[in-house]
Amino acid sequence: MNSQTWFVQTADEERRLKITRELSSEFAKHARRHDEEASFPHENIALLRDSGYVRWTVKKEYGGEEISLSEMLLHQEQIARGDGSTALAIGWHMGMMLNLRLTEAYPQAVFAEISESVVKDGALINSCATEPATGSPSRGGRPETTATPVEGGFRVTGRKTFSTLSPALDWIQITAGIEGSEEVGEFLVRGRDVEIVETWNTVGMRATGSHDIVLNDVFVPEEFLVGTRGKGVKSDRRDDGGGWMLHIPACYLGIALAARDFAVEYAATYQPNSLPHPIAKVPHVAEKLGQMELKLITARTYMYDLARRFDSSSPCAWPSMRPYFGAAKTFVTNAAIEVVDLAMRVVGARSLWKDLPLERMYRDVRAGLHNPPMDDVTYQVLAVEAVKEIEATMR
Ligand SMILES: Cc1cc2nc3c(=O)[nH]c(=O)nc-3n(C[C@H](O)[C@H](O)[C@H](O)COP(=O)(O)OP(=O)(O)OC[C@H]3O[C@@H](n4cnc5c(N)ncnc54)[C@H](O)[C@@H]3O)c2cc1C
Repeated sequence: MNSQTWFVQTADEERRLKITRELSSEFAKHARRHDEEASFPHENIALLRDSGYVRWTVKKEYGGEEISLSEMLLHQEQIARGDGSTALAIGWHMGMMLNLRLTEAYPQAVFAEISESVVKDGALINSCATEPATGSPSRGGRPETTATPVEGGFRVTGRKTFSTLSPALDWIQITAGIEGSEEVGEFLVRGRDVEIVETWNTVGMRATGSHDIVLNDVFVPEEFLVGTRGKGVKSDRRDDGGGWMLHIPACYLGIALAARDFAVEYAATYQPNSLPHPIAKVPHVAEKLGQMELKLITARTYMYDLARRFDSSSPCAWPSMRPYFGAAKTFVTNAAIEVVDLAMRVVGARSLWKDLPLERMYRDVRAGLHNPPMDDVTYQVLAVEAVKEIEATMR
């Protein structure tokens, strides 16, 4: 089994994967420097734009390639093999364009404007919803960012944290409490209208540019209020069950695969003078290599199987897949953390060295625990599903 090709299904996927493989090896050359400096990889983003990658999930009608969820995961995983930070950052854009295409969540004219700007100018989009007081937006807290209705639209003021890709964003979907109501609105703002405050100085994923963005009395026209939620307000958006967010586990799998590649090569070539052969043949090392393979094969098989089920399902089935997308995120991310840990045990103390990539991967992969959905949410949702299923059989 070749880990590069096992999940590839079509000639078009293989053709495009050749492009992301090349990009990935280029990104790997700069990953260490950006990690050390916590600098944003602008040159990687430029290459992703120039290669056309940023438009691959865009609808064909607007000049995109309309790739499937499972294909997007192949590329995201591949990019993360070179640099986890670049993969996570561009993954939000790729995933959002896929999600907006499939759910038709935005008004048609707004969606057309965004899609055309991606294709023509390489514009990038992300959703920035986290705030210091609410913590993870998935917990449902009301944002402190406020939208005040004014003639023709809203004036929005507030601050978002963890705003990945912020140095390169042209479009930002933010959440804000609508003044005078219990509703929370989703607003589209332009990157040029916000201030970026460079706060991102973390242990891992240091090159994602996940800084704070500050909105200071930003005018948002009413057509850019793209969604609302709140008491008594039922969203009429199509729900994809969160399938697009599989770009998150794909990213952490890519990091784990890179750690595995490094450890296997190290084990196959490192021969201390106490041994007549490389360490790969030492039983406890071989066992760890085998454990890594098993974790990777099972995690990848589950993620790609789920993505393909999504690709071939009718939209009405997507919401019911939400618990399994959460399961994939939790299972895959934890497996990726274990794989990087095993890779370091194989290599031994040299894995701690700054001039080898493993210590960066160890720090990067850890960030996956804090991307949604969080593990406790996944377990709760799965428990509810299991009980529902048994209750249904008892009726
Ligand atoms: C690398 C990276 C990139 C990110 N990029 C983005 C991005 O682009 N856009 C964006 O919006 N966000 C982004 N995030 C933020 C992410 O989605 C979370 O909002 C953020 O990590 C905070 O989550 P938390 O669970 O640690 O925080 P909190 O919600 O503050 O939780 C802190 C602790 O309290 C517990 N807790 C808090 N509330 C509850 C509750 N109601 N019930 C049970 N337990 C609770 C949690 O389990 C946790 O243990 C990113 C995060 C990371 C690490």
